[in-house]
Amino acid sequence: MKQYDVAIVGGGISGLASAIYVARSGYSVILLEKSNQLGGRGQTIRKKKAMLNLGVHAFYQDGKGESVLKELGISLKGANPSASAVGVWKNKVHAIPTGPLQLFSDNLFSLKGKMSLTRLMLKLNKIDTEKIGTISLKEWAEKEIHDPMVRFLLYAISRSNTYVPYPDLHLAGPALRQLQRTFSGKVMYIREGWETIIEDLTNQATLLGVTIMNHRNVSEIKYDSRVQKIVFNNGETLEVPKVIVTAGLEETYHLVNGAENTKLALWKSQARPVHVACLDLVLRKLPQPDADFIAGFWIDQPIFYNNPTYVTKMSDDGSVVIHLAKHLGTSTGNPKLDLHELEQAMDVVQPGWRVEEITRQFLPHMTASHDFNSLDRNDFSPGPSVPEIPGLFVAGDWTGRGELLVDASLDSAKRAALAVIEELKVEGDMYGHRRVIQRT
Ligand SMILES: Cc1cc2nc3c(=O)[nH]c(=O)nc-3n(C[C@H](O)[C@H](O)[C@H](O)COP(=O)(O)OP(=O)(O)OC[C@H]3O[C@@H](n4cnc5c(N)ncnc54)[C@H](O)[C@@H]3O)c2cc1C
Repeated sequence: MKQYDVAIVGGGISGLASAIYVARSGYSVILLEKSNQLGGRGQTIRKKKAMLNLGVHAFYQDGKGESVLKELGISLKGANPSASAVGVWKNKVHAIPTGPLQLFSDNLFSLKGKMSLTRLMLKLNKIDTEKIGTISLKEWAEKEIHDPMVRFLLYAISRSNTYVPYPDLHLAGPALRQLQRTFSGKVMYIREGWETIIEDLTNQATLLGVTIMNHRNVSEIKYDSRVQKIVFNNGETLEVPKVIVTAGLEETYHLVNGAENTKLALWKSQARPVHVACLDLVLRKLPQPDADFIAGFWIDQPIFYNNPTYVTKMSDDGSVVIHLAKHLGTSTGNPKLDLHELEQAMDVVQPGWRVEEITRQFLPHMTASHDFNSLDRNDFSPGPSVPEIPGLFVAGDWTGRGELLVDASLDSAKRAALAVIEELKVEGDMYGHRRVIQRT
């Protein structure tokens, strides 16, 4: 193989973003993806005439993720729904009052509850989340919201927009920031799926000369006093001085022989990956045209309903895409039972859907995030370097600084890339090395 300055393991959003930053600085980059497709969890699958993200995907704007994409010259194309959501309680569907005019229209909340919800909505965006301190979302909510039903609704919305079903463990700051974006209309559904983001990132990387290789399964990163080479599962090797791994925490740990003697061990011991069971449906049409809303929050079960076609194009023939998610938290779930519950949930919000089904994808155990901002972490700043192994860097959702999901992925990708660039620059200056610049 040719020589490269930097190898990036993983061709998802983090890997592609890191590759662009490094290549922009003039260094040569190879990106290695084990599967036959780029995109990782950001892929969109075409089924019949529909485009299915891997489970419900919404882009929360005005955060680190969007700002990184902007820096990379990528603008998001999609739509932000105006509030149109329901709450489900004891298998009954209720509109969620979103303004004073709806205060008297629904019976999910007592009048006191409705007032409390309105107050919360008015207050939420004024909260300075940086100043909340190290308390949990639950602790914050119990202090600020007196109506228990409103608290439960808040937990349900938070669970749906963070994938963290643990209000007692989830740091209030990051959780409230995500709620602020939700309540202020910063939730974007990407037209034709997240694959469009992957395509834009891939095009940028290719234009900058990044060598992209699929079917390249990395099995080990060899090092002595510093990173030496990458070993592939077919026994081939690639000598390279810097590696950014974006493959997820567990996978990263296994790629490093002796990881137990590094910071990776601490990061792994504190991590709480959160999982979700996803049922993605394509329907000819909504069986209940009146039941046309973007989101459904189950208050007494960890279930979420989402119809992105309410606001944006997700099919070529007008078919409707529905995502249902059961939040599993850190548990592995029970695929048969979870599927049954998701189908039953659909019966509640869209009775008659079964005859409209064209196709589906069931993903019983997706990792929405390899870690979250939990109160009991020991280290709130994992990465970007693995201090014991010079030349090794990490990026991905578990290496955030209080961000969530793709915000954490993209911001950490930038952080890792900048750290690598800095090192290459210093080493180049120190040893008079010429940069290896290759365009393929
Ligand atoms: C069901 C679900 C719903 C989600 N919803 C949202 C949402 O609404 N909003 C939001 O912001 N985020 C959401 N996310 C999270 C978002 O999808 C991720 O943050 C983002 O796609 C992660 O990108 P990544 O590159 O960090 O990781 P990944 O996409 O996981 O990419 C890692 C890549 O590394 C590759 N790889 C792994 N091991 C190796 C190896 N040994 N050698 C070579 N390659 C390897 C993998 O094949 C993969 O392509 C959701 C995730 C899921 C699963």
